Amino acid sequence: MPNFALSDQVFADAAARFPTPFHLYDEAGIRERARRLKAAFAWCPDFREYFAVKALPNPAILRVLGEEGCGLDCSSATELMLAERCGFRDEGIMFSANAMPPSEFDLARSLGAYINLDDLSDIDLLAAHGGIPACVCLRYNPGGDFSIGNTIMGNPGEAKYGMPADQLLRGLLRLKELGAERFGLHAFLSSNTMAASYYPELAGILLRLGRDLAEKTGLGFAFINLSGGIGIPYEPGQAEVDIQAVGKAIREIYARECPRGDVAIKSELGRWMTGPCGWLVTRAVHEKKIHRDYIGVDACAVDLMRPAMYGAYHHITVCGKADQPLDHVYDVTGCLCENNDKFAIQRALPEIRVGDLLVIHDTGAHGYAMGYNYNGRLRSAEILRTADGDFRMIRRAETPEDYFATLRF
Ligand SMILES: *Cc1c(COP(=O)(O)O)cnc(C)c1O
Repeated sequence: MPNFALSDQVFADAAARFPTPFHLYDEAGIRERARRLKAAFAWCPDFREYFAVKALPNPAILRVLGEEGCGLDCSSATELMLAERCGFRDEGIMFSANAMPPSEFDLARSLGAYINLDDLSDIDLLAAHGGIPACVCLRYNPGGDFSIGNTIMGNPGEAKYGMPADQLLRGLLRLKELGAERFGLHAFLSSNTMAASYYPELAGILLRLGRDLAEKTGLGFAFINLSGGIGIPYEPGQAEVDIQAVGKAIREIYARECPRGDVAIKSELGRWMTGPCGWLVTRAVHEKKIHRDYIGVDACAVDLMRPAMYGAYHHITVCGKADQPLDHVYDVTGCLCENNDKFAIQRALPEIRVGDLLVIHDTGAHGYAMGYNYNGRLRSAEILRTADGDFRMIRRAETPEDYFATLRF
């Protein structure tokens, strides 16, 4: 099920204080998920989550996750700068980029971050830009389809990321020449997956591969990085991934593949950490009846792009109408001059009147962050519902001045 942890009254109270549209994030919920993840891996001597900054790049959220013991997974200079401004450095940062400007290696190295290399050519680039650290992580791409049992979970053969096993071996030998002593292995093979077996399967693959590479190179095998990819239930009727069971299944594989217990585990979850703890709060501003019934709202795809980009489902509720029958069928739209700017298509909802408050669920990851300025539309504010139940604006809405700031007349 989508996350119904906050009552309609909370959204109504927030909308009484701040103009719509805005994303509302639940600090208590985010802390609870961080603790649940940590508990699931409490058996692992050196487990750490590196929150994928791209999912929700707001300092207030990053600090909350830092307080819960998480590090940050960054993939650009700006994300590294954001991490630094929030007090993260050294082993608190993982830098996983691809096809990036070499200066980003200099910055990541100056912060002491773990470096996750995407390609063989990155090795000499890193040597020239910041130098080779004692411990380097490499990104693995097995190619082909990635299946668990009979189910295809992903298609690494078409993915631009990572290196095949033979290149990992060549890369590690080169890194050893350049002074590296230990290595980590990273892979991201399936996105938004609801299969509880994904992380355990991946852990087994990386542990076996790493052991083999350590034997062949004489380098120490420091950690596996399971990256992101665990999904959340966007749709009613979908069950949540049982993270405790995921941790338990990995524990069994770990005991078998790594009896010495000397390889750490890292994760870089984005969606699972914050996705269910965000809601886009928007007001119905227009009603139109032509070949279909349309409800226009004051948010649009610049605030939440996933439905337009992927046809993604986001659950929608209407504040104060939880008990009313879903006896109307609407397309819920934004104002962009793009017909894919629809938060819902032919969705059964209660009768909606102009002025009603709509809550679009599960926008806490890859929501605001994917925004853009098409049609000169300006992105919304972000509001944090603090653990004590208060509201705090953690990003103001954009103004025309922001839009004009980069233009030269
Ligand atoms: C996007 C990304 C993540 C987070 O993915 P989720 O699907 O949000 O869990 C983690 N690591 C890397 C390298 C990524 O690119």
